[in-house]
Amino acid sequence: LFVTFEGTEGSGKTTVIKGISRRLEELGWQDNFLVTREPGGSRISEAIREVILNKANTQMDRKTEALLFAASRRQHLVEKILPGLNAGKLVLCDRFVDSSLAYQGAGRKVGVPEVATINQFATGGLQPDLTFYFDLDPIVGLERIRTNRQDEVNRMDEEQLDFYQQVRAEYLKLAQQNPQRIQLIDASLSQDQVEAAVFSKLKKFLEQ
Ligand code: C5P
Ligand code: MG
Repeated sequence: LFVTFEGTEGSGKTTVIKGISRRLEELGWQDNFLVTREPGGSRISEAIREVILNKANTQMDRKTEALLFAASRRQHLVEKILPGLNAGKLVLCDRFVDSSLAYQGAGRKVGVPEVATINQFATGGLQPDLTFYFDLDPIVGLERIRTNRQDEVNRMDEEQLDFYQQVRAEYLKLAQQNPQRIQLIDASLSQDQVEAAVFSKLKKFLEQ
């Protein structure tokens, strides 16, 4: 099973994924799941990602950016996600195609259908079985990041609030269009509450 986590900056995905993986380990699942994130520690994916996020690359064309994200995703898929799924594991992934639909398609205005097309090519159409979308007002998320930064500063941090509002609007649209796959999570709740909500939905999904 392939499960992805989506959301804008400061929505707490990464922290919650850590908590979920701790809980899965407590249930004795350590050999049956893997946690990864784009670019997933794949050397090639990381190298592509570095080009995308490098603060020096202010000249990058938005279609180039969309293509590079898709290329990085492809490599991570081939090196990490597919081998995990083929071994019968539960694969938990921090971001996937929905991120590009929202960030490049809507935020950067490359166009959601266009970004969907290049990602269809990149992934061969692989879709997550389940997606948790952490919904949060970007004002709150950006404030969280400002006071508790965990990642390095990157080129995307130059974006204005308006950009993240468009990203959020697209995520909400995707959630509405894919109610079976995408579970909406209220990320304004405490980290513990969010983790509990995600874990209970995930458990239900695994048991069905
Ligand atoms: O995955 P993470 O949240 O660490 O993303 C790193 C940066 O890349 C963030 O600033 C995010 O806004 C940006 N990003 C993006 N387009 C994507 C995925 C991430 O602009 N498709
Ligand atoms: Mg993160």
